[in-house]
Amino acid sequence: MGMNSADRHIYFDSAASTPVADEVIAEMLPYMKQQYGNPSSIHKFGRETTRAMQLARRRVADLIGASPREITFTSGGTEADNLAIKGVAVSARNSGKGSRIITSSIEHDAVLEPCRDLEQMGFKVTYLPVTEDGMVKPSDLRDAIGKDVALVSIMYANNEVGTIQPVMELAQIAHQAEALFHTDAVQAAGKIPIDVKNLGIDLMSMSSHKIQGPKGVGALYVRAGATLSPILHGGGQEASLRSGTENVTGIVGFGKACQLAAERMQEYRRYVSELRDYLVDKVVHEIPHSRLNGSRMARIANNAHFTFFGVNGEDLIIKLDEKGVAASTGSACSVRKQKQSHVLKAMGFSYEEITGSLRLSLGMQNTRKEVDVAVEALAETVSELRQLSPFKSKYA
Ligand code: PLP
Repeated sequence: MGMNSADRHIYFDSAASTPVADEVIAEMLPYMKQQYGNPSSIHKFGRETTRAMQLARRRVADLIGASPREITFTSGGTEADNLAIKGVAVSARNSGKGSRIITSSIEHDAVLEPCRDLEQMGFKVTYLPVTEDGMVKPSDLRDAIGKDVALVSIMYANNEVGTIQPVMELAQIAHQAEALFHTDAVQAAGKIPIDVKNLGIDLMSMSSHKIQGPKGVGALYVRAGATLSPILHGGGQEASLRSGTENVTGIVGFGKACQLAAERMQEYRRYVSELRDYLVDKVVHEIPHSRLNGSRMARIANNAHFTFFGVNGEDLIIKLDEKGVAASTGSACSVRKQKQSHVLKAMGFSYEEITGSLRLSLGMQNTRKEVDVAVEALAETVSELRQLSPFKSKYA
């Protein structure tokens, strides 16, 4: 390999985070320097930041077919998920309605952990299984649901394997049992067309930094008429659903990122999915004993997730990084907690299949040349690691 640490690193981790677009930075800058008023203030400075937030709220709402008053800004996808799940559970219990929650076994920890916390508090949670492609079967939801369910929370697109769930059908089943339907659309919003009204979504989580916006800001869409309790209490900002002085700069950037995502969505989907298909074909043809995981068809455009048999995925990431290619196992949280992917386990993967897994996620900044370089590095590294592996005789 001709790459060394002085060369430009190739970034194949856009599902973890993305570069902030120049247009986004340009809109944010004045809100750090000249327009620093608190949106709760009545004077000119306050009015200017309120106006900027209104514009951002409209842009976020327009991206998903919502009305601006249905958008609550949060500190990101994690807070939006926590607010949706805990907010609905607490509100349902307070009103004496059934408060069971149904979710899936492949959710992000930002959904699973609040569910576990609710279980500690005495709430009931049902975790639905998935197919080997990572898909929730609507019939499983139909079997599990009952009048005691307050909320069904199923993610839109999975962050590890990219599988897109049958959201419209799942929402219909939830509504037949008079439950609310929440979806964690952190990996989907801005990347595929979403019309919350048409799909029947009651609550939806979004995050700015996955779509070329700044980190630490996101939103929860709450359909007008859906009730939930706040989880942060204080000054009553965001229509009392999320107290705390708003992250005006971040919100302005998020709004711009949503506007750009809407304008560029077609171009994004075409470019990124073509590049992803090129990458997938190259990997499975050029690297023996490799396999694409997840659904071929119902898949988010930027996701490629593989198993390389006889290799440890984390060793692979470290070696690839040394060669100038940034990849991931699929979840930053799993890395921090040093645990095996619950997503791949739920898909029925063996220990060996989980261990050998790697996610390459793409963005508009990636090129075919980069794919060529990355696959060459990958092929070389997989082969090196197999030489050292106890499975050497099987795969090397
Ligand atoms: N949900 C999913 C599916 C994600 O992929 C992520 C981030 O990786 C989150 C939630 C958390 O979002 P945030 O980083 O904005 O807190």
